Amino acid sequence: MTKIMKVTTALCLSVLLSAPAFAEAKKVKWKLAMTWPSTLTPFASPSLKVAKLVEEMSGGNFTIKVHGKEKHKAALAILDMVKNKQYEMGHSSAYYYKGKSISTAILTTVPFGMTSTEQYSWYYYGGGEAVTKKVFDKFKVNCYPGGNTGVQMGGWFKKEINTLADLKGLKMRIPGMAGEVFSKLGVNVTNIPAGELYTSLDRGTIDALEWVGPGMDIKMGFHKVAPYYYTGWHEPATELHFFVNQKAFKKLPAEYQTILTVAMKAVSADMMYENFDMSQAAWAKMQKDFPNIKVKTFSKSILDAMKKATDETMESYAKKDALFNEVYTSRKDYLKKARDWTEISEFDYVKTSQMVE
Ligand code: CA
Repeated sequence: MTKIMKVTTALCLSVLLSAPAFAEAKKVKWKLAMTWPSTLTPFASPSLKVAKLVEEMSGGNFTIKVHGKEKHKAALAILDMVKNKQYEMGHSSAYYYKGKSISTAILTTVPFGMTSTEQYSWYYYGGGEAVTKKVFDKFKVNCYPGGNTGVQMGGWFKKEINTLADLKGLKMRIPGMAGEVFSKLGVNVTNIPAGELYTSLDRGTIDALEWVGPGMDIKMGFHKVAPYYYTGWHEPATELHFFVNQKAFKKLPAEYQTILTVAMKAVSADMMYENFDMSQAAWAKMQKDFPNIKVKTFSKSILDAMKKATDETMESYAKKDALFNEVYTSRKDYLKKARDWTEISEFDYVKTSQMVE
């Protein structure tokens, strides 16, 4: 063997030995904690699907074990568990953590806010990703979109609501910003565990409640005891979120970071389609089985009062908290531009197609 051949062979060998062959890829085992029970579709779907995709795309080398609420029993402590690295990942929703930072409250959805298309466009192209990062950096956690319910219904009411006076003293389960708004309008807002909601509504412990939309409401059975189904105003695009511990993410090989990021984006969009499909099927079944259900929209005077109370609530938080103000302003500015386009495109198209029905 000549000297040049020897050197070339040695070089080739060293390249072969140093190149990470796929079979020798780094093994990574992660755990993910969800706010929801493992059986709650479609909310549990993004985590289960992300684990499957990541495992397949990494040739079985990067695995994520998913724990539902039934396992860790800490549904609303997901952010802490990811921050402390008890779990590398979590699946929850930003607004459950408003006690830690009020800015998280407006990353999920807000009354009279953006639709899911508008909100995803804001997140990926309109500055949403950067402000979300600012909010979650202080927890040393990355926060990514993790599925969307689309427009949620305004809830099930036992009696028709015609005037603002009908809201006074009404006992209703309605959490989050919308609960704050309804409180201002005189509603007696209560918080009742999910498992007791049906009985509370049936027995009149509460007069009304909101949940999600037909796809998830149908299993709860509310339509059997409260016939007035109000259209949405308060959660127009409820976003679920993936949380990822920043240190754990940094430690991942670059290709696993890409695999995880792409998988999260794919399953996030997928949950929106799954929920839409569940809702159209459930709504058709509800109407057939319970023809007495009446779909209602709140009157203009009630909606005006809700909007005023929403704006006041937002402005007061924006005055108190600079980061809240930054997210609020970013969303408000984007919504204005986005809505001008939504109105002459999707919204007008639906109206136009109704003209020829
Ligand atoms: Ca809801």
